[in-house]
Amino acid sequence: MKNKHPFDDFGINLFSEEVMKEWLPYPIYSKWKTATNKEDALDRPTADAIAHAMKTWAMEKGCTHFTHWFQPLTGSTAEKHDSFIEPGDYNQPISRFSGKSLIKGEGDASSFPSGGLRATFEARGYTYWDCTSPAFIRDNVLCIPTIFVSYNGETLDKKAPLLKSIEAISKQATRIVNLFKDKDIKRVKPMVGLEQEYFLIDKKQYLQRLDLMHTGRTLFGSMPPKSMDIRGHYFGSIPSRVYSFMKDVDEELWKLGIYAKTEHNEVAPCQFELAPLFNEVNIAIDQNLIIMDTLKKQADKHGLVCLLHEKPFQGVNGSGKHNNWSLVTDDGQNLLEPGDRPHENIRFLLFVCAIIEAVDTYPELLRMAASCYGNDYRLGADEAPPAVISICMGDELEIILDKLKNGEHELKNDVETQPYSIANLSYVPKDTSDRNRTSPFAFTGNKFEFRMVGSSRSASTTNIILNTIVADSLSRIADQLQQYKYIDDIRKKALDICRSILQQHHRILFSGDGYSDEWLTEAKKRGLPKIDHYLDSIDSLIDDKAVSMFERNHVFNKVELEARVDILTVEYRKSVKAEVLTLLDISKKEILPALVKEIKFYTDAQNSLGVENQYYQRKIKHLVSLLDSFDSQYHVLKDKMKQRSLHPENCEKAIYLDHIVIPEMKKLREIIDEIEESVSKETYPVPTYDDMFMAMQ
Ligand code: ADP
Ligand code: MG
Repeated sequence: MKNKHPFDDFGINLFSEEVMKEWLPYPIYSKWKTATNKEDALDRPTADAIAHAMKTWAMEKGCTHFTHWFQPLTGSTAEKHDSFIEPGDYNQPISRFSGKSLIKGEGDASSFPSGGLRATFEARGYTYWDCTSPAFIRDNVLCIPTIFVSYNGETLDKKAPLLKSIEAISKQATRIVNLFKDKDIKRVKPMVGLEQEYFLIDKKQYLQRLDLMHTGRTLFGSMPPKSMDIRGHYFGSIPSRVYSFMKDVDEELWKLGIYAKTEHNEVAPCQFELAPLFNEVNIAIDQNLIIMDTLKKQADKHGLVCLLHEKPFQGVNGSGKHNNWSLVTDDGQNLLEPGDRPHENIRFLLFVCAIIEAVDTYPELLRMAASCYGNDYRLGADEAPPAVISICMGDELEIILDKLKNGEHELKNDVETQPYSIANLSYVPKDTSDRNRTSPFAFTGNKFEFRMVGSSRSASTTNIILNTIVADSLSRIADQLQQYKYIDDIRKKALDICRSILQQHHRILFSGDGYSDEWLTEAKKRGLPKIDHYLDSIDSLIDDKAVSMFERNHVFNKVELEARVDILTVEYRKSVKAEVLTLLDISKKEILPALVKEIKFYTDAQNSLGVENQYYQRKIKHLVSLLDSFDSQYHVLKDKMKQRSLHPENCEKAIYLDHIVIPEMKKLREIIDEIEESVSKETYPVPTYDDMFMAMQ
């Protein structure tokens, strides 16, 4: 008999389209398909039939419960489990799962952030089935992806606006494609591939670091640069424990129908990457959330801890979540593929220009979407992209765009025999366009890769914004093109539109070294915003410009945006508060006693010697001076933290933390790092960076 191969189980825990085809009568399947394309709503009998099939399928696999799996504004996922079991006649248990339970769930929303959207008298929230993302099984629970809205229908989650943004971009992109004579195209789907970076450390050591446990990152500690170089040699091969972790992660994800591939990332010690195959953005984001959860759970099973924080270790490369984004028509054409036929080229140029315009018009929104408090420690540091948004098109395309901008292209009417010389991009070499890894937003052959996104974030906000801002540009472009009837006129006008966009927005194009100081100077000259602090970017959501753009495209209304600003600000405050309180706690209970112990050690040694010893004297003096500065900085931080109560307003409090408290926390960290270098290994109470990295070899 043939041995079982892990691939044999691919997708066994996913209620995929194939499973639906197999389990549903064809008319029901076909109605579901129409509903996913937004051509028609699901009726009750169809929902009942799907619910029944889903339940039977799940129960055959041992499921006892189902849950409406949703994405509240906490950024992670939430679920409320319900059993399939109900009392039947004569009190015999029967299993039941109706179309109603599939489509709609009701629950207490009061434990999730709502930014004031949910009045206290109406704490209910509703979940509605997102039939465009497949249900799946985890730990004997059937998980049904849902959106989460308030009693009044305002969005309380990260999925509902994403679905709206997908509609917005699909509508506008389809208009353009149709104008270019692809009349049969009905939908254009944004596709996303999310590369997830993470760190793994030993669980025993993790449990000794309260900072990692409470905040996800080390609040003190440093990696001596020399140590990095020496150790560098050893990070080539994957330790067996990690290898078996990766194997289990891959296998679990394959069962969920996720094409995952975990990899060793050579850049930082203990850092790894998992890149699944790209998918429709809604599904890709659901999968990414499952991946993050799986990484954490599997790590735990292997005596490891998975750190998803953007910057767990100061001085060591941080983690991102690269967002590879493209647009694909329902007949499979990637609109960001340069193509080798002239008319495709012009359409391609038009889409590229729409993206250029969108990114240059709303850079603050993208900066905000990709970030969180933790990402502030990553952007601009080490290998990470700087906090300035620019687009790298690659040298070849940039030359083409430059010519187009300057009107140096030829436009000939005989399309078939005489390609538009400027617009014929067939010679654009795909594999060279991705050489520049220092750009936050890079064209990589047939997609754009947005590298700023933080590893711990849901990729939802990023894609909501990307979809909506591009939809907005496309809509303006389609309005202009719509006036023309003949394809030649449309092409001519399209190139005019491209030229005018490039003339207005070429400042955003940059293919050089994005990490260099010269670029920062140049970016400033070009007037590109550099928002170093995430907190300063949050308000961009309620800019007049942004509010009308979101409203125009039916993605958010003003009230929803205001609620989000409120929630993000509270989230920011909570993150900083957790860090400060943790640092103060560790300082008092662990660092201070260690330092005192070390001083006592040298004082005793000096005393027992009888004669004055210069080394001991110097050492004691140094340690005592460290103690003084540590003690005084500890109190400064503590006092400053207390004084935050003088700023009752949400926003003011956050600004106070950002401007006044965080710098004091950094100063205390510097002193602790010096203490780490000055006390003996035996005395130092927590595992150091070196300890943690070496334990993973
Ligand atoms: P890198 O060179 O950045 O390490 P890859 O080229 O291997 O990455 O791709 C990274 C991610 O981009 C993967 O998740 C992959 O599936 C995804 N990807 C590839 N092509 C597309 C596309 N056309 N649209 C969206 N994502 C894509
Ligand atoms: Mg990448």
